[in-house]
Amino acid sequence: MTALHTVPARGTEDRAERIARLSAAAHRIRRHALDMGEVQGQGYIGQALGVADVLAVVYGDQLRFRPAEPEWPDRDRFLLSIGHYAIALYAALAEAGTIDAAELETYGSDGSRLPMSGMASYTPGMEISGGSLGHGLGVATGMALGLRLQGNPARVFNLLSDGELDEGSTWEAAMACAHHGLDNVTAIVDVNALQADGPTAGVLRTEPVTDKWRAFGWHALRVDGNDIGALVDAFDELRAHRGSPSVLICDTRIGHGVPMLAEREKAHFMKVAEHEWDLARQQLGEGSPA
Ligand SMILES: [Mg+2]
Repeated sequence: MTALHTVPARGTEDRAERIARLSAAAHRIRRHALDMGEVQGQGYIGQALGVADVLAVVYGDQLRFRPAEPEWPDRDRFLLSIGHYAIALYAALAEAGTIDAAELETYGSDGSRLPMSGMASYTPGMEISGGSLGHGLGVATGMALGLRLQGNPARVFNLLSDGELDEGSTWEAAMACAHHGLDNVTAIVDVNALQADGPTAGVLRTEPVTDKWRAFGWHALRVDGNDIGALVDAFDELRAHRGSPSVLICDTRIGHGVPMLAEREKAHFMKVAEHEWDLARQQLGEGSPA
């Protein structure tokens, strides 16, 4: 299978062309996420809409991979430690051409390769089984050490949530990763200010997030995670950085791109009534970049 939307070779587009292409990709990722959400009538829709721009830039601009060969040894690894964001990653993998968009209809159903929480043994392109939070960065650190030992230039990305910063194992891995100077690691933190038990600031205060990563020896940048241009510029800077691991802290808005979902009371696990899905798609379409 080949990607529906070919990614131009690096350096052949100007910034405006990149942003336009990635904005269109983010829009399709959101549309896929809504279509999958409708299958179950509920789910982690808000997070998927919030993180769609980040995934569009990562898969459409930063990762080196072969869509039809997910086990290619030289691929950049993308580790989703937040297994409940699987809906967003499936949407991105469909956009990338690793899975067929028609398969998204099976999301969360019996026998599907697309379970509601990400599982490596089920889904092509899903590098780890996530969901029990706080393990992704440790695995990323081990993978990056192994790749360096093998002389493999592949990079390792790990998408974490802000809630995952509550986990001590995340900081243990952050310390080890910096100790080993693993500049082939890029962590991405989706700061949507919400976690399962409520607003992050009320559950366990994680701010100032950027200062904490820097104190652990990381090259840290913070951007508006729903601004494609800011994401492109930041990822470009991180990929040029050497000597220490990098982290991009992305402030995202739950439900971004679909006002009726962005405006409702913030919900970690969102229920959307049957009649609301068409309206959600309509609102997404009204904000379409194309
Ligand atoms: Mg969160």
